[in-house]
Amino acid sequence: MNVNQSAPPVPPFGQPQPVYPGYHQSSYGGQPESTAPPTSYGAYNGPVPSYQQTPPPGVSRAPPSSEAPPASTAQALCGQAAYGQFGQGDVQNGPSSTVQTQRFPGSQPFGSVPLAPVVSQPAVLQPYGPPPTSAQVTAQLAGMQISGAVAPALPPVGLGYGPPTSLASASGSFPNSGLYGSYPQGQAPPLSQGQGHLGAQPSQRSAPPQASSFTSPASGVPRMPSMTGPLLPGQSFGGPSVSQPNHVSSPPPQALPPGTQMTGPPGPPPPMHSSQQPGYQLQQNGSFGPVRGPQPNYGSPYPGASTFGSQPGPPQPLPPKRLDPDAIPSPIQVIEDDRNNRGSEPFVTGVRGQVPPLVTTNFLVKDQGNASPRYIRCTSYNIPCTSDMAKQAQVPLAAVIKPLARLPPEEASPYVVDHGESGPLRCNRCKAYMCPFMQFIEGGRRFQCCFCSCINDVPPQYFQHLDHTGKRVDAYDRPELSLGSYEFLATVDYCKNNKFPSPPAFIFMIDVSYNAIRSGLVRLLCEELKSLLDFLPREGGTEESAVRVGFVTYNKVLHFYNVKSSLAQPQMMVVSDVADMFVPLLDGFLVNVSESRAVITSLLDQIPEMFADTRETETVFAPVIQAGMEALKAAECAGKLFLFHTSLPIAEAPGKLKNRDDRKLINTDKEKTLFQPQTGAYQTLAKECVAQGCCVDLFLFPNQYVDVATLSVVPQLTGGSVYKYACFQVENDQERFLSDLRRDVQKVVGFDAVMRVRTSTGIRAVDFFGAFYMSNTTDVELAGLDGDKTVTVEFKHDDRLNEESGALLQCALLYTSCAGQRRLRIHNLALNCCTQLADLYRNCETDTLINYMAKFAYRGVLNSPVKTVRDTLITQCAQILACYRKNCASPSSAGQLILPECMKLLPVYLNCVLKSDVLQPGAEVSTDDRAYVRQLVTSMDVAETNVFFYPRLLPLTKSPIESTTEPPAVRASEERLSNGDIYLLENGLNLFLWVGASVQQGVVQSLFSVSSFSQITSGLSVLPILDNPLSKKVRALIDSLRAQRSRYMKLIVVKQEDKLEMLFKHFLVEDKSLSGGASYVDFLCHMHKEIRQLLS
Ligand SMILES: [Zn+2]
Repeated sequence: MNVNQSAPPVPPFGQPQPVYPGYHQSSYGGQPESTAPPTSYGAYNGPVPSYQQTPPPGVSRAPPSSEAPPASTAQALCGQAAYGQFGQGDVQNGPSSTVQTQRFPGSQPFGSVPLAPVVSQPAVLQPYGPPPTSAQVTAQLAGMQISGAVAPALPPVGLGYGPPTSLASASGSFPNSGLYGSYPQGQAPPLSQGQGHLGAQPSQRSAPPQASSFTSPASGVPRMPSMTGPLLPGQSFGGPSVSQPNHVSSPPPQALPPGTQMTGPPGPPPPMHSSQQPGYQLQQNGSFGPVRGPQPNYGSPYPGASTFGSQPGPPQPLPPKRLDPDAIPSPIQVIEDDRNNRGSEPFVTGVRGQVPPLVTTNFLVKDQGNASPRYIRCTSYNIPCTSDMAKQAQVPLAAVIKPLARLPPEEASPYVVDHGESGPLRCNRCKAYMCPFMQFIEGGRRFQCCFCSCINDVPPQYFQHLDHTGKRVDAYDRPELSLGSYEFLATVDYCKNNKFPSPPAFIFMIDVSYNAIRSGLVRLLCEELKSLLDFLPREGGTEESAVRVGFVTYNKVLHFYNVKSSLAQPQMMVVSDVADMFVPLLDGFLVNVSESRAVITSLLDQIPEMFADTRETETVFAPVIQAGMEALKAAECAGKLFLFHTSLPIAEAPGKLKNRDDRKLINTDKEKTLFQPQTGAYQTLAKECVAQGCCVDLFLFPNQYVDVATLSVVPQLTGGSVYKYACFQVENDQERFLSDLRRDVQKVVGFDAVMRVRTSTGIRAVDFFGAFYMSNTTDVELAGLDGDKTVTVEFKHDDRLNEESGALLQCALLYTSCAGQRRLRIHNLALNCCTQLADLYRNCETDTLINYMAKFAYRGVLNSPVKTVRDTLITQCAQILACYRKNCASPSSAGQLILPECMKLLPVYLNCVLKSDVLQPGAEVSTDDRAYVRQLVTSMDVAETNVFFYPRLLPLTKSPIESTTEPPAVRASEERLSNGDIYLLENGLNLFLWVGASVQQGVVQSLFSVSSFSQITSGLSVLPILDNPLSKKVRALIDSLRAQRSRYMKLIVVKQEDKLEMLFKHFLVEDKSLSGGASYVDFLCHMHKEIRQLLS
């Protein structure tokens, strides 16, 4: 039937709509997405430098429009469900008071990667390899903290030891900290030595002073083990930064009374939270004192220091001292140091096992044979040779892989290599693809596989002579012989049913039930689609996208639309038999946008009118996905469904759900059911979708519980995304929704993908995390994969590795491009292997480690009580650090907490994971929020998890107004907030502007256009556009932060002492949280205790 007889108005299609500035196809996200590499193999013959071509000019990042209508606070008040706004907001004491002191063995059966039991080996130092070489001894020295008697003659520097009285800390949130009043605020003491992240010279990486960081504030005295010797090069023990090129901002040493010792009072700990209570004890040299007190239970409503550090220190106990927050490793400092040391030089990937700069550092990458860290990051770039060593260290060996990562404009997309009909050259045995590590032999007639050692013949058409070094003379003319990342054009053998694929299709499936209509969603969406359809992804500078589109609306029944170009009006077909879904039309359902533009526009104009008076409140869900998938199947193509859905699907149909939300399950053994789908129907459906290459992106607009855990199953298993806009109202939320939608529709996606990670002999991929499906143990199947998604792969030993040959990874992704081309994208990475544990710890990457551990834990909650998951994380972290302490640090420093330089942030970051809403929810965090975050984190990359768990807090008025660079961040603690300043806080999902109560009136006027603090509207989400430098600067900064993230962050203005401040404070992750999460200081003390227990 014809849905509407009126002649459709013809909108001004054909050129970009002025309302979408920043909409240029090539500029979204700051880089050309239509990345058909400039040449295929034939044209590729330049020398190495020519690989690093820059893309055409004119590519610019389009700042999001910030002209949404002013929003009221209604949304903020709409309830806790609004995860997107408040994310990890919570305000209550957590449940963990029942936690017991029991330690769970590492082999708790959650997840599929059991940890080894607690390491309790006899204290054998350096059990691997020969006795320490001199270099190694040096490493040990550098890693050592002196814990014996301090030589009084040494000029103690570092911490200014105050009088032995308790001073309340500046912030109430550090009940057991803040004693060191004399230590200047904001100055980190010289905690760490060595080279966490060296420059691009790998040779230095093996230099001795690798670790040994953190000791206490007083450890500013460089000492030899004998405590009389001179300072070793590179060994500064937190003293003057003479030998710490990487820690340029170490503060000057401070005077300290000689021989000062910090110890706690004897006897049991005093009551918790008393400002008099002994905090973490420091003893000689400021090392952490021994803790022999009762084992506290981590996870209980963190009893502050009540049980920490209450032991008397050895010789002469002095009144208690507390650990100064300034004296413990600072994420801000580490990030700053890395930026300063590694941000200026390109990261050249030619050398095996190099640790890349941190994800928080801006750097360029030059591919010289290994994949860029934008594609692959590893937990360690030097892996133990044996599984025994790996088990001992407990450092997970994992790679976070983002196969289709977007690159900055300065870096070229991978070249496409076309080997014609013969297809890519592979090893006959293990099927690895030709790569720079393959060894050509016998004059070039054969090659030995670097993964399985199989000798293969070189096909005649691929033959080339070798030079005197055994290298093919054409090595630099071929990407596959000289680069870490490249693509092959796939032959028909790589295609489903031996048929080249059709271009993919997008199907927009719109909920038109009462809630969707009433909130204005349907009208907004239809209006947006009219112009957005001009920006479908395309490749290689083609004029038009090859992607076809189709439209479905639904409530309890489905409506399909025929939008064939020859029709004067769109036609609607209703399918009410949702139990047996079929597609009522084939011809005219999936169409080319430009051909059917008039009909599509007419349809989008009519949909909001057609359902304007609907009273239908019930919806179906599974049949909608089924319909989309069937439509793609009928069209014999892969594609993506964009579902816009509002409510729990309670209508009678397959996949019908009931409201099973039950907060009483929190902290019980049944809590895991909240994260599990309530029916298996969606897994079955997802499997069918994957087989069809049907990826599902879900946009949720719930007013109440919708069971995200169940609804997100199909998106999760098909490589799709879930977006959630709780209590959606057009006036408040349209900017966020439209920004996300635009980005989602435009982004380049690979369809019908299969990813395989091959490894050289000795290790293999054993576990996978991310949004995908696996039907066997090796192939990661992705109905769709976009440039934001990562797949995390864990490796285990299956044999001994060899220091000389190292270890190799090759990630091969077979996919269909947006234009319908079948391709293989190959990423190669070579890692070092070690026989000394110190080498492992020296080449770790904590951000990646945290990414892995968070994903591991977030999957664990599906199967195990949350407490078990938390305990397992803590135990593993303690084991990692204890192993370091035992094998890589000095035996004489028993009482001190010693952290490897590269892992000195592990405790603070891990604590953030433990406190996150999934693992320790506050009262205001809904079940849907937790499920939502859980699945989001699953495919986050390292940069995203980094900022998500440890938010960025930027002071806005401290730096000069004319400064164009981002202001330096401060630590995420209330203590760092000055009430005379304004701060931005972001974590990738949330964005707060915190206004101190004593901010100058001029600043208030400049930013908010009101005359006083009290007149600022709390909860404001848009800053007025004012023509003054401060306003412009702050708004530009907000735009810039948003542009860096894959999801639009809605702004919330929070006034000091206002009700909304609770939400904001939840993100101050170094502080104790109201849901029971430990403060950083407390957690560090606890971690030390755990380590000591493992070592004793
Ligand atoms: Zn092989």
